[in-house]
Amino acid sequence: MMYVRPKKSLGQHFLTDTNIARDIVDAANISKDDIVVEIGPGNGILTRLLAGRAKRVIAIEIDERLIDKLREEFGSFNNIEIIAKDALQFSFNEIEGRFKVAANLPYYITTPIIFHLLESRDRIISMTLMMQREVAERIVANPGGKDYGVLSIAVQFYAEPALNFIVPSSAFFPKPKVESAVVFFRILDKRRVDVLDEGFFFKVVRAAFSQRRKTLRNALRSANLPSITDDALDSAFTKTGIDPKRRGETLSIAEFAKLADTLFCHTSS
Ligand code: SAM
Repeated sequence: MMYVRPKKSLGQHFLTDTNIARDIVDAANISKDDIVVEIGPGNGILTRLLAGRAKRVIAIEIDERLIDKLREEFGSFNNIEIIAKDALQFSFNEIEGRFKVAANLPYYITTPIIFHLLESRDRIISMTLMMQREVAERIVANPGGKDYGVLSIAVQFYAEPALNFIVPSSAFFPKPKVESAVVFFRILDKRRVDVLDEGFFFKVVRAAFSQRRKTLRNALRSANLPSITDDALDSAFTKTGIDPKRRGETLSIAEFAKLADTLFCHTSS
């Protein structure tokens, strides 16, 4: 196996446990017809296993030091392509055909990378991503708890995430400070709920969570949503039957959609 000195700034915690690597690849449910995109192949521990199961693996790595090593290591594989790029700048729409994503993500960009990938959701069948346990728990959270928030809703709007298993920090070198978890995201054929205006829906969601201790009414009032008067707010609560004294964290995605759509009608009237 190749060796480079791990760079903290690039979130380099290399997986050293091959059993866990195999569990991740199993969770990704790859078959011979699949194109798999891997983010951050590192020293190639997942790449090698993925290539054994997939039709083609496209691995995107930012660290120049690893690129030559990866190309050398996998020179004899005809189904691995190493792309030297920042995955955040990579245009996933360029890939021909629909694909699955598998990665042990660099933690410093977990959420931006997930959002970037979700922008190309039409092309993605599923994503199997290892990340910090705490972020995984927020992603899969249901209404009512402290983990449920903007991230849960933003992901669950487009995908069905499931926390597959926890990975101890001892499985990496260097050892991270926190535990990790593997999350499987099934991309939904269409967004979970219909809304009149997606941008406005997310404005309402962000506003509701901006001050978590406040009631929904007070949080939305102080967020100064564009062209939403107090009267419009009160009438939206009455119309939707949503109690304004509830806290944002108790609302389901469908309830947020109902509330946002009712308010949106006020912005355009
Ligand atoms: N897949 C390897 C493993 O499981 O051991 C490495 C995982 S390590 C947590 C994250 C990898 O992502 C590193 O190889 C790092 O260089 C790479 N990386 C960091 N930032 C990146 C970015 N913006 N785009 C692509 N790769 C990145």
